This record gives sequence, structure tokens and C-alpha cells, in this order.
Amino acid sequence: MENILVFVEHKAGKVKGSSSELLGAAKKSGATVHAMALGPGAKSLADELGALGASVAYVCDSENLKNYNPEAYLQMVSGVIKDKQPAICLAANTSLAKDLFPRVGAKVGCGVASDCTSLTITGSNATARRPMYAGKVSAEVVFSNSSTKIFLMRPNALGPATNSPGKKADLVDLPAPSTDLKTLIKEVVTGTSSKLDLTEANIIVSGGRGMKGPENFKILDELASVLGATVGASRAVVDAGWVPHDMQVGQTGKTVSPTLYIACGISGAIQHLAGMSSSKVIVAINKDKDAPIFQKATYGIVGDLFEVVPLLTAEFKKILK
Ligand SMILES: Cc1cc2nc3c(=O)[nH]c(=O)nc-3n(C[C@H](O)[C@H](O)[C@H](O)COP(=O)(O)OP(=O)(O)OC[C@H]3O[C@@H](n4cnc5c(N)ncnc54)[C@H](O)[C@@H]3O)c2cc1C
Repeated sequence: MENILVFVEHKAGKVKGSSSELLGAAKKSGATVHAMALGPGAKSLADELGALGASVAYVCDSENLKNYNPEAYLQMVSGVIKDKQPAICLAANTSLAKDLFPRVGAKVGCGVASDCTSLTITGSNATARRPMYAGKVSAEVVFSNSSTKIFLMRPNALGPATNSPGKKADLVDLPAPSTDLKTLIKEVVTGTSSKLDLTEANIIVSGGRGMKGPENFKILDELASVLGATVGASRAVVDAGWVPHDMQVGQTGKTVSPTLYIACGISGAIQHLAGMSSSKVIVAINKDKDAPIFQKATYGIVGDLFEVVPLLTAEFKKILK
């Protein structure tokens, strides 16, 4: 049976949602699923990885892997790929993976397809679809000649994994990376937000220039808190300094694929659409009936967001209480 290696990212002792869906897709394909997790806490994921379908878990708990260090991670991942020769390697299309896997591809001589939005696995092969030219077209990608085929999947593209509690993965302890690295990551300063990152969020409420000012984002916060959503933004409002850059969705911001994307006062420029058009359901609220966002929207509400958003919040509160 073919082996699929899933590179797992984890946080606070849990497998990230974007990694668990990869395990689910690998398991569904009928392949033997191998998982790989690095950094402190990796070992403690064994039960969860087993329940998500991994039969083997390669782990390394080394403190040297606590923060992402390209050299150390490259050593670990390329080592496992060279040694185990999986037919396919899957990782979520996160900032870490986008930095790491081109290096892995170069080191082990494998092809890498990033930002894939769909994947069909057939035996040792797979076909992926990935948007190009800011989402204007999408390309179908297959590898004609690559021992391991590496696919970086856009979070939320594959859907949630099913869990089989009680199943265990065999733990394989990997030796720690060598210490003669040329770079040392001394500290990583993370943002203060406790909210789920946009790329992992299942529901996103985003605001654009139509919000008129930073003080009005509180109406989006209220809607987001009722829906369990994360708040995003267009570049126009980030450039205006109303919200921080980590909230920006689009070509030069984050690429998201939530189940529900609610765009409030966003015109729908191509650079914004590039980051969110693969959302499953798009709701646009805009007072201009000709705004381009309506061409992408599943549901369009032509109206003043300052009336519509509080109404939605009140109605969702009633339904979801
Ligand atoms: C190289 C490059 C990269 C870029 N990258 C990105 C990117 O990553 N992300 C991104 O978003 N943009 C990006 N842009 C910018 C992009 O081209 C647009 O300028 C930007 O998306 C516009 O933001 P907006 O929709 O919030 O503002 P606008 O285009 O000004 O739209 C505001 C909308 O709000 C509506 N509105 C106003 N008041 C109300 C109201 N009361 N109720 C309801 N609707 C209302 C208006 O009708 C209008 O449609 C990039 C541009 C370039 C050149």
C-alpha cells in the first residue's frame, strides 16, 4: 500500500485543524498514513494522530525545534522523506510550510505544488487544482516524474476529518537536529490576539473601506462573537491603519477558505478576491448594487452595512442562543 506522509503543525498540545483535514484526506484515500510532528509537545500528539488516521507518527520533541528554524526543519523533514520515500507528502499551505517545502523539494529533488484547493489521490499519484493569476484561472497539477509528490493544501479545502478515538499511532522518535546550525532563532514575538488565525477560521467577517473608520469595527466584532468567527479586512483599511496587517485578506494578505465569508463594505477588487474566492459561501453586504463583490457572492445584500450588520447580529443571537 502507498505511504502518505502528513506534515503536522500543532499548537497548545493539539493538532491544528488545517493538519487534521490532511490526515482525514490521506486516510480516506486508503493509503497508509504516516504523520510527522516537530517541537515540544509533538510526542504527546500520538493518540490524537492515531485517532485521525495515522498508523505511524515520526516525532521529535527537541527544544531546538520549538521555534521554526528553516535549517533544522529542513534537516528533519528531508531526512524522513529520503528515508521513507512516501509517494505523497501533504502539508497545510501555511507561512511555515510555504517557506519550508520549496527547500525540501530542492533538497530531495521532489516537485512541490503550493496553495492547492482540491486534491484527488489515486494510488501513488495525485491531481491537485491550484488558482493562478490572482484566481482568474485554475491549473490542474500532476507530477510526471517525482519520487515524492509534495502538495501544500489551502486550509479548509479538504473538509473536516473523521475521528476514530482509541486508534493508536506507532511512535518513532527522531534524533534531534544537529546543533551546528548557521542560524539561531532566539525569540519569536507573537501577536496579542487570542482569536483563531484567519487561515484556520471556519467563519470570517471582513470589513472594508465602507466601515468608515476603525471605531466601527466593533459591530463586526459583535457579529463575529455571536458566530464564533474571526474578523478580517481589506487592504484599504489596513493601509489606512484602522486594523493590523495580520487581518488583511487578499493577494498581499492572507489566503482564506472558510465555510462562510461575510464581506461588509468591501468592493471586491481582484486582489481581495484572490484571497477569499475559494470560500464555500460568500455573503456580501454593500450599498452599491454594482459592486464587483456581488459577482462572486453566493448571497448579496444591497444595503447600508450599519443597518444590516446589527440586524444580522440580533437575528443570529436569537437562532444560535
Ligand atoms: C499589488 C496590489 C496588491 C493588493 N493586495 C490586496 C490585498 O491583499 N487585499 C485587498 O483587500 N486589497 C488589495 N489590494 C487593493 C485593492 O486593489 C483594493 O484597493 C482594495 O481591496 C479596496 O478595499 P475596499 O473594498 O475595502 O475599498 P473600496 O474599493 O473603497 O470599497 C469600499 C466599498 O464599500 C461600500 N460601502 C461604502 N459605504 C457602505 C455602507 N455604509 N454600507 C455598505 N457598503 C458600503 C462601497 O460601495 C464600496 O464598494 C491590492 C492592490 C494592489 C495594486
